Amino acid sequence: MEEKTLKGKIGVTTENIFPVIKQFLYSDHEIFLRELVANAVDASQKMKTLASNGEFKGELGELKVRIELDEEAKTLKVIDNGIGMTEEEVDRYINQIAFSSAGEFLEKYKDQVSGIIGHFGLGFYSAFMVAKNVTIETLSWKEGAHAVKWSCDGSPEYSLEPCDKAERGTVITLYLDDDSQEFATKGKIEYLLGKYCKFMPVPVVFGKKTEWKDGKSVETDEDNVINSIVPIWTKAPSELKDEDYKDFYHKLYPMEEEPMFWIHLNVDYPFNLTGVLYFPKIKERMAIDKNKIQLYCNQMFVTDHVDNIVPDFLTLLHGVIDSPDIPLNVSRSYLQSDSNVKKISTYITKKVADRLEEIFKEHRDQFEEKWDNIKLFIEYGMLSDEKFCERALKFALLKNTDGKYFAIDDYRSAIETAQTDKDKKVVFLYATNADTQYSWIEQAKNQGYDVLLMDCELDSHFVNLLEQKVKDCRFARVDSDSVQNLIPKEDKVKPEMSDDDKKALDELFKAVLPQGNDYFVEPQNLGETAAPVVIAQNEFMRRYREMSSIGGGMNFYGEMPKSYNILVNMENPLIGRIWAKRDKEDNLLKQVVDLALLSNGMLSGKALAEFVARSEKILAEGTGSCSAPAQEESAPEAGENA
Ligand code: ADP
Repeated sequence: MEEKTLKGKIGVTTENIFPVIKQFLYSDHEIFLRELVANAVDASQKMKTLASNGEFKGELGELKVRIELDEEAKTLKVIDNGIGMTEEEVDRYINQIAFSSAGEFLEKYKDQVSGIIGHFGLGFYSAFMVAKNVTIETLSWKEGAHAVKWSCDGSPEYSLEPCDKAERGTVITLYLDDDSQEFATKGKIEYLLGKYCKFMPVPVVFGKKTEWKDGKSVETDEDNVINSIVPIWTKAPSELKDEDYKDFYHKLYPMEEEPMFWIHLNVDYPFNLTGVLYFPKIKERMAIDKNKIQLYCNQMFVTDHVDNIVPDFLTLLHGVIDSPDIPLNVSRSYLQSDSNVKKISTYITKKVADRLEEIFKEHRDQFEEKWDNIKLFIEYGMLSDEKFCERALKFALLKNTDGKYFAIDDYRSAIETAQTDKDKKVVFLYATNADTQYSWIEQAKNQGYDVLLMDCELDSHFVNLLEQKVKDCRFARVDSDSVQNLIPKEDKVKPEMSDDDKKALDELFKAVLPQGNDYFVEPQNLGETAAPVVIAQNEFMRRYREMSSIGGGMNFYGEMPKSYNILVNMENPLIGRIWAKRDKEDNLLKQVVDLALLSNGMLSGKALAEFVARSEKILAEGTGSCSAPAQEESAPEAGENA
């Protein structure tokens, strides 16, 4: 035996490739196990093929991959009963091809470590990231083959010798390196198998199943198979029930609530892709976890960073994509320009839109019921993806403040008669908070208008988008003007005032309004019975401010003071009295302004305390009537009567 041992030098230029491999791939050391198990799975699959096409006529046995860990000896074995290798094959595949591809790999990527996707298949040689010594004992399926043992201690030198392995297949043994002892624990190997191998297509066995007996866990005789060999995405949708999809979802994400909907992907031309994508329940944007889609390649886990493979808004989905056509051993920037990846991304977007439209058409009630939870996702998609937007305009819903849902076009038709303004624009009224804008909403409803609820983080952007996409429409928040002016039917007649008077009115009101905001005081004729003062937020100024604060970067606008339109109703009798006095210390002036502030939730702290004190004083002075200042004036009369 001794004299038959072959010694050789591996054909790479790098003198010692292994320290380099280790350094390069530091953060991804753990993928070695996936690579070795994937090779073993391949060898088993090939064996199956040979048996089914009749090339192999012997006993196939139960094809399994076994992982054996010796925590004491710090060795890890990956064992298969696949095709094995002849001596010549070991020399060709391991010594020449694999080594040279490892060498090529390093040559290619040595300048861009950070650009490496980190999930390439360096294959067999990744074993040297964690092992100081690796052996391969293998017996080929071929008739008359002799078992051989290859070993290598990490230098470019290897030895190849006959050995007495009797069963077909391959045993890879890793003698773990001193700085990779973390892989010599059962927990770690379990974790890695769970992460990378849980859907591989051949049973992967790690130890024996355990059960609880007399208060402790004991090993049974049954193999502990860690993977599910036929995961649902490899099955036909017709074979599957809703429960199967839900079970699978909970297996992937044990902590998540029930998914909303799912989409089964299955295409084999012009690229190969299968998978199941789920719509998770989304309530708040901040709570959304991206990177919940797992990318597989022939049932082997590759990554859960799919940012460059699916469009950004789809990274909010959960689930699995399996495609052998996504190039894995390339940098991320390259991925974006890859034509297959582009096609895949377009395909997925289309499928998602198809599915949503289908639910919208066929299960409208379900769609409405789930709308609040998927709205953010759809709005995000519409804002970020032109094609998706065109599709989604058909099924996106609007919700009004009464909790009713409408398709966008239907809504437009429904409000068209009552809410078309003098410029022939249909005005979509909306509130962003049903509570704080309550009185505004009520006023609009009393006027015969409908009010939408737009309370999602993206709605200020979404409103802009709809104004571009929906024919002849404009959006106005209910508090952006007095109810009389929200949807002007004719050019309003403004009070006639000289420039000096306008200036005086401006100064009078600004004197009593709180500091720190911008005010535009506007005399208006709103009718005798309408409120004396209305504090509105100009629609465009407000949106500008909001969008820039969400958009980030343009902080300048985010820090803009809030601006308000102070609509002074010159037809209201109280304003008549205030205007006659023109006194900045006038209690009636203060009271009227404070009431307007109060109904907008803008009165607090000292100003609120002063308002309360002033109100109490007015009440005490009068006889319970709120029009205290009028009392003041009519006091002499009262005296006369008495
Ligand atoms: P890749 O798997 O990408 O081809 P590897 O370096 O992982 O590259 O393996 C090189 C070759 O060695 C494989 O293509 C296969 O022919 C052979 N090989 C590796 N592991 C096994 C195994 N467990 N059984 C049989 N052949 C194997």
